[in-house]
Amino acid sequence: MSRAPRPKSVSGLSGLSSLVYSTDSGRLCPGCGQAQAQCACAAQQAEAALAARRAAGVVKVQRSSKGRGGKTVSTVSGVPLDEAGLQALAKTLKAACGTGGTVKDGVIEIQGDHVAQLLTLLDGRGWTVKRAGG
Ligand SMILES: [Zn+2]
Repeated sequence: MSRAPRPKSVSGLSGLSSLVYSTDSGRLCPGCGQAQAQCACAAQQAEAALAARRAAGVVKVQRSSKGRGGKTVSTVSGVPLDEAGLQALAKTLKAACGTGGTVKDGVIEIQGDHVAQLLTLLDGRGWTVKRAGG
């Protein structure tokens, strides 16, 4: 046993250096560890969701009468717009079709069978527009 004793390793502590806790910045975001005042997670998630919809890039127009007491509606889904944009587009489409409609869960519903007209109206906006379903 002639070996000199090794110096005590401190490398075990270096891994902790990136964990910095702040006690005076209020609640920390569980997502990014930033103080919630500085956290951009929610905005990033909204942006990511919007980007995903843009990337999907296909607007689907579909006639549907499921679960509506036999009433036919034309749905427009996959539109790469935020809620305000969807509402504005729905208004335009309703006016053009001369009918009512709504926006539900990011899908525009136009009352009646206006699929052909909607395809025409949505074309030329730079989106890929497809007729889906029957
Ligand atoms: Zn965060």
